[in-house]
Amino acid sequence: MQRVEDFLADQVQKAPDALSLTDSIGTRWSFADLDAASTDLAGQLTKAGVQANDRVLMLSENCAAAVAVLFACWKLDAVVIPVNARQSATEVDRVVTHASPAAVLMTSAVSPEATVHADRMQAQEITGTFGTLQLATPMPSQPDPDLSDVAVLLYTTGTTGDPKGVMLTHDNLRFGGKASASLRNMTPSDLIYGVLPITHVFGLASVVTASCYAGASVRLEARFSGAKLFEALNEGVTLLSAVPQMHALLMQYTKEQGLDRLGSPDLRYVSSGAAPLDPAWKRKAEAFYGIALQNGYGMTETTAGVCASNNSIGSPDISVGPCLPGVEVMIDDSVAGGHDGTGEVLTRGAHIMKGYYRNPEETAKVLSSDGWMRTGDLGKIDKNGFLHILGRSKELIIHGGFNVYPPEVEAAINDHPQVIQSAVIGRMKDGDEQVLAFVQIAEGDNLTAAELRDFVRDRLTGYKRPAQIILGTALPAAPTGKILKHKLLDTFADQLA
Ligand code: ATP
Ligand code: MG
Repeated sequence: MQRVEDFLADQVQKAPDALSLTDSIGTRWSFADLDAASTDLAGQLTKAGVQANDRVLMLSENCAAAVAVLFACWKLDAVVIPVNARQSATEVDRVVTHASPAAVLMTSAVSPEATVHADRMQAQEITGTFGTLQLATPMPSQPDPDLSDVAVLLYTTGTTGDPKGVMLTHDNLRFGGKASASLRNMTPSDLIYGVLPITHVFGLASVVTASCYAGASVRLEARFSGAKLFEALNEGVTLLSAVPQMHALLMQYTKEQGLDRLGSPDLRYVSSGAAPLDPAWKRKAEAFYGIALQNGYGMTETTAGVCASNNSIGSPDISVGPCLPGVEVMIDDSVAGGHDGTGEVLTRGAHIMKGYYRNPEETAKVLSSDGWMRTGDLGKIDKNGFLHILGRSKELIIHGGFNVYPPEVEAAINDHPQVIQSAVIGRMKDGDEQVLAFVQIAEGDNLTAAELRDFVRDRLTGYKRPAQIILGTALPAAPTGKILKHKLLDTFADQLA
């Protein structure tokens, strides 16, 4: 079996001294350094009792040591569970109970939240060529032979409910890393801005495995800020992958600073993924970056990529483009829509997960014996063969008998210059589903719900218009920046009519 750490071994053969990683605490590693650091850490994990097919939980924010943790686990044939250190104690404990890890590692050097977890788990500091980490051993080693081909357990974002533990194999990660690198024509002269958390599949594939496959360098950043991204883009970054919210926050920052264009001669590929991209953001972002903004679609269960666009700048196409090579997509139009070719998106190929860990019921609901996986997303394929994602089937709002797709309503709202981002959901009231919009504006901004209602009137037919618009300065979000829609009603409970 070929393994994902072979990507690193290949780079150590080809270009041991080439720059692999830098991070916000001044680490600067070549591929040989990363290899040595992960071997060192693997040795310490073995001493702590970790065996092949054990789970190792990593509570991290992006830094070089976190990448060493991944490779250390793979070298031991252990399964790493990357979890963002900004998750709460309850969320982390749920993972510990579910996956019974033999060890927990924390990247406290870049993350105050990791320190809090380390303290409550009574972790010990360990040091080596990997830097400083905290190690706790909450449970004895419990190797699980079912995990012999599994490289990571990645918990889904939890947008629609409790996160599920996705088993991605070495083959999945190799396929995803190659696909992500080829899509971007990644080479050793590229510098990737690594702000997508590597604890999420999008960051893991487009930052860690792709760079290692291609021999490209990564500038890791523990936390997103518009200011830091702006600085990095002027310091040689060639590739930027981000969630739409990050592009929106960069636009917000540059607006506050009075900057309307980016002077970054090196930037050559920018993409948006993991959540819907709307036309207004695409337009604004392209005007700013000066190059096309590509839209990629994927999910944890598909090792990131399913489809990605390949447009030129200014294209009004906001589809997610054609399938990546080796990936198949089809539409099951017996689900929702039914007319005009809309239905549930199914996908098949080497990117599909092995299943949900310790959850055969949920696995059986989405994976069929002929290899097709149900994504739970609604979409349609246009005459060019490009996939359009209309939203999640669970989030489809049926108002007065008509289908309302939240991303369409969000796009109309986001078009307003004072809106940073928005989230639309349905709520049952008096026997019908109401459209509710939650809108983030800047602190001190004077935009009112009534003004916004007038604004969207021209853009949306009657049944799509929100029954209520709720304004706030923050929306509940996952560490990637994705909005957690199932938390909206609770968060804004006192403002609901
Ligand atoms: P959970 O499964 O726990 O509810 P989640 O689905 O948000 O959370 P992820 O795996 O992070 O967890 O996200 C995948 C989902 O993100 C896809 O199923 C799709 O709904 C959405 N998505 C990803 N990329 C795009 C895109 N380019 N356009 C629209 N939606 C997207
Ligand atoms: Mg999902």
